[in-house]
Amino acid sequence: MTPTFSDDELLAFLDELLPNERASLIEQTLRDSDELRNRLAGLIRRRDQGGHTVGEIWRRYRLTCPDRQTIGSYLLGVLDEPLQQYIQFHLETIGCRLCGATITELEEAQTAESDRPTQRRRRYFESSAGHLRKR
Ligand SMILES: [Zn+2]
Repeated sequence: MTPTFSDDELLAFLDELLPNERASLIEQTLRDSDELRNRLAGLIRRRDQGGHTVGEIWRRYRLTCPDRQTIGSYLLGVLDEPLQQYIQFHLETIGCRLCGATITELEEAQTAESDRPTQRRRRYFESSAGHLRKR
């Protein structure tokens, strides 16, 4: 029986992201299977047309987490759609705990930020009250 491979797996194979064992299984199968060779050729063609699908971006960047600033932009929803989707994928599907922690941190910072004007007003009020007393 010929082993089956998903498109994602074949693309990961092209990018040399697969574990050695799986990669050599694909290599072996490629040698005997016209069908698999054709499929792989089709995938390469499609990829060379420069599709920026979520899966593609994920494959390219999955080893790295988005930086803090990008995550901040993600929270604000101001990123380009593929990147926005990628980060959502990274967080919700992959469930990256590192980035999840950054999100929590950023959200807390945002809450603190919105508290600050009140504090500033209070400080201003207290200092002018003190100023008035001194006169
Ligand atoms: Zn991450």
